[in-house]
Amino acid sequence: MEKDCVFCGIISGVRPADLLYQNESLVIFKDIHPHAPIHWLIVPRRHIRSLNDLAEEEGDIIAEMILRARQMAKEHSIAASGYKLLFNVERGGGQVIFHLHLHLLGGW
Ligand code: 5GP
Ligand code: ZN
Repeated sequence: MEKDCVFCGIISGVRPADLLYQNESLVIFKDIHPHAPIHWLIVPRRHIRSLNDLAEEEGDIIAEMILRARQMAKEHSIAASGYKLLFNVERGGGQVIFHLHLHLLGGW
């Protein structure tokens, strides 16, 4: 857990969020400012600052995040209509929260 990290606050339960799913390695909650009918964030429990800071040996978490997003889309019946998965990387790439996360947008 990183002091002053918004997502670490959510993961530890200090900060409220609409939690949709959690397991031992990641949590999924609703984005507070949705850009689509469904806009969820898939967030590893471990504080990793950005995709640029992910160590090679931590790469499995990326596959897990993507596959869990796909499963969530299926379970919530937004898979067939289509969805987007997005990583914003560093400030120029639109990253505002510096705790690795994957956006799932869909439900159109
Ligand atoms: P980024 O631009 O870093 O890829 O995305 C961060 C996302 O986190 C934004 O879409 C923003 O709306 C969302 N966000 C920021 N603060 C909070 C918060 O306190 N709670 C929730 N649920 N989402 C947040
Ligand atoms: Zn964090």
